[in-house]
Amino acid sequence: MHYDVIIIGGGPTGLACGISLARDGRQVCILERSPQSILADPPFDGREIALTHHAAHWLKRAGAWDEIPENVICPMHTARVETGKDHTLPLIFNAPKDGPNALGFMVANHFIRQSLYRIAARTPRLTIRAGTHIEQTVHTERSARVVLNGGEALTADLIVAADGRFSRMRESAGIGAIIDDFKRSILVCRVRHQKPHDHTALQWFDAGQTIAFLPVAPDERARHVSSLVLTLEKEDIDRLSICDEEAFNAEITQRSGGRLGELSLDSERCSYPLKTVFAHRFRAARLALIGDAAVGMHPITAHGFNLGLRAQETLARAIANGPGDAGTTRVLMQYERQHRRATLPLYAGTNAIATLYTRDSRPAMVVRRLGLNLANHLMPFKKAITGMLMDRQK
Ligand SMILES: Cc1cc2nc3c(=O)[nH]c(=O)nc-3n(C[C@H](O)[C@H](O)[C@H](O)COP(=O)(O)OP(=O)(O)OC[C@H]3O[C@@H](n4cnc5c(N)ncnc54)[C@H](O)[C@@H]3O)c2cc1C
Repeated sequence: MHYDVIIIGGGPTGLACGISLARDGRQVCILERSPQSILADPPFDGREIALTHHAAHWLKRAGAWDEIPENVICPMHTARVETGKDHTLPLIFNAPKDGPNALGFMVANHFIRQSLYRIAARTPRLTIRAGTHIEQTVHTERSARVVLNGGEALTADLIVAADGRFSRMRESAGIGAIIDDFKRSILVCRVRHQKPHDHTALQWFDAGQTIAFLPVAPDERARHVSSLVLTLEKEDIDRLSICDEEAFNAEITQRSGGRLGELSLDSERCSYPLKTVFAHRFRAARLALIGDAAVGMHPITAHGFNLGLRAQETLARAIANGPGDAGTTRVLMQYERQHRRATLPLYAGTNAIATLYTRDSRPAMVVRRLGLNLANHLMPFKKAITGMLMDRQK
């Protein structure tokens, strides 16, 4: 069977890429190792995705936004950054007065994945093969081939690797990557609390721990809901992931300084290693890397999926402007050049901030406080960051 494009990985970026390319008239096949039941009804995975305006526009155009229940979309009005124990000098970003009143929209990852799958499943020219295991991939200047477990062979003009941060495709193509290991883990879960979150996302770089509270849309139950993102040494995250609920509630309430009142666990606890990835190259012969396989961002700037959407748009545009063969070097070079330019400064800047703001030495704490205070008064800087957070380009 021959396709224009075979996409390996049916995560949110792979599904979005399949939708874009099939709508442009390409014959596309997505190969995903998880079973169809998981794609159709993905489980809660702790990730609450802050969608930019651009991402929301893309999801609306694709029809996926309408597949997300309205009552689970939570607008974010303010982002607040704090360092150390002093909460009186925060760096605050508000949506501009002359624009939409939200910086972005919080939506749980499993709703985004579900909505994209629903659209992808009914897109003509797009085949989704779930529960598939890949035995071998071969891609040369002349052709690309994927052999499935069982021996079936599929060919394509282009293979797109959308198989996540620890991409096997990237590795097997011999593409190296900058992997920044922060030697910490992240625990994410939903918590209930007494005080309202006021649609504010808080990023608090405390000494020895980083805590984020992200606003979650209210439901019919009592008390407010937020997503807790706690970054600590791996051993502490492992302990907190399995300790009994009462001990967990007491510890997270104490760690958060009681700022939202008493916290109580309201979901599963999920954890992730804090490693960021930037591939040395985003292409090889008849192969393109997109999503986390190309750029696995640190979650503090909440841009991983937003950039994944950008990657597949850039690739689809390069293919549409190309000679017809989706896998030519010229098409892939154009994609790579544009996507590197769009992601490298953000990747490097995010990691520099994350590194500085997790250094707890006395001089670093002084620089951290001064940096936030200065940034809060530098209006052009704040405007630029607000623009980046919102990404209102259509
Ligand atoms: C705690 C946390 C918070 C985050 N918050 C935000 C946020 O606020 N905003 C934001 O934009 N981003 C955020 N992100 C990042 C975002 O979740 C990722 O960027 C996004 O999920 C990447 O999508 P992807 O499709 O590239 O990769 P993945 O979601 O990793 O999907 C990869 C897919 O490939 C499949 N796969 C892997 N190997 C194979 C194989 N060999 N064969 C077939 N299939 C394969 C996997 O099963 C999976 O379905 C956050 C991430 C974390 C961990």
